[in-house]
Amino acid sequence: MYEKVKKENEKEKVFAVLIDEAQFLSKKDIHNLSDIPDLLDIPVIAFGLKTDFRNELFEGSRTLLELADAIDELKTVCQFCNKKATLNMRLHNNIPTNVGESIQIGDEEYVPVCRKCYKERLDLV
Ligand SMILES: [Zn+2]
Repeated sequence: MYEKVKKENEKEKVFAVLIDEAQFLSKKDIHNLSDIPDLLDIPVIAFGLKTDFRNELFEGSRTLLELADAIDELKTVCQFCNKKATLNMRLHNNIPTNVGESIQIGDEEYVPVCRKCYKERLDLV
């Protein structure tokens, strides 16, 4: 990514790099991205989830938390009680689950939930 931005910046000035779904990037990708502001003086703004449906950090998110100059939290509300949502719940056939691969493509649906509803819906309390 760094080399691609460097080449593009030589042709035409790049003012910023925006990354969506940054949680899916690898640790190596994030380190590579960090060279863009450090060596090219171009800001990189990345958006993504902090944790997966098991409430475990994604590799890309963990590395962003380690390297980012600033972190802003985008707030959303719990699907069930309207309190602040801090977790993501995977629904398989509308049934909450916390088992399976971190990244899975299929019929699963994800909803934002608060920690209390997460525990209650998954019978963790
Ligand atoms: Zn809730």
